[in-house]
This record gives sequence, C-alpha cells and structure tokens, in this order.
Amino acid sequence: MPAINEPIYQVAVQSTAKAWRERFGRYRLMGTVCNDCGTHFYPRRPVCARCRSRNVADKQLPHTGTVVAHCVDNFALSGYGQQVPIACVAIQLDGMAPVIMSHVVDIDPWQVKIGDRVEMVVRRVRRESNGNYQYSHKFRLIGK
Ligand SMILES: [Zn+2]
Repeated sequence: MPAINEPIYQVAVQSTAKAWRERFGRYRLMGTVCNDCGTHFYPRRPVCARCRSRNVADKQLPHTGTVVAHCVDNFALSGYGQQVPIACVAIQLDGMAPVIMSHVVDIDPWQVKIGDRVEMVVRRVRRESNGNYQYSHKFRLIGK
C-alpha cells in the first residue's frame, strides 16, 4: 500500500503513449524554434504557426523566467492526490522564449506576485493510464 491514500482515476488520465512522446518537453522544457522567422514554441510543434514553415528545430528553452499572470486554483489535484490550492501562473521565459503555463510550488499560493523570478523544477503531476506517475515541469521562486 502506498503511504498516501491516493485514488487511481478512471477518467481524465493521460495516455502513456502521449506522455512518452511529450517527455522531453515536460522534463527538459524542450520547445521548437522556427529557422525561417525565429518564433519559439512550447510545446513542440512540427509546423511554424506564424509563417507555416516546416523548417523548425528542437530548442532547449531557458529554465528561468518571470511571472506575468497568476491565479489560485482551489480545486486542483496536487501530484500527491490531495486537493490543495495551487498557484497557476503564466511565465515569460528568459530570452526570446514564449510564455508558458505552469504551477508555482514550495510557497503559499497566495504569495505569488506578478514580477516574481522563478526557476524550473520537476515534480509529480498525475498518473498515466497505466498507473505510472507522471512528472513535469513546475516552478519555484528564486531566492525564497
Ligand atoms: Zn516561422
């Protein structure tokens, strides 16, 4: 028995094959960059959404950024099965990278502010359809 009384959800679970294909994006924040117009994308995509070029390449996105919008989700499930408030944020990654959606962890979610500097960490988010735990990027405040 696991130490935490965690339910295995029969609905809203992610396919294991889909999780496998998206692993580089979730673990390493791998996105794509268009070699024709220079636009960055996350998650990865095979065609540029701006100029429709197929000349795109994988690119490691920066693991630091700035909070540009935030809210508190009171009904989110943590990766550990509890329903706890979670800070949902939009993060402008450093450099030319895009704004991505993620969570801020290791802090009271009500303390997150616009302009906070954050860095990527990997945390448990959910279970896959075969019961495996799935991990993904989340962010924590730098220097707190
Ligand atoms: Zn393009």
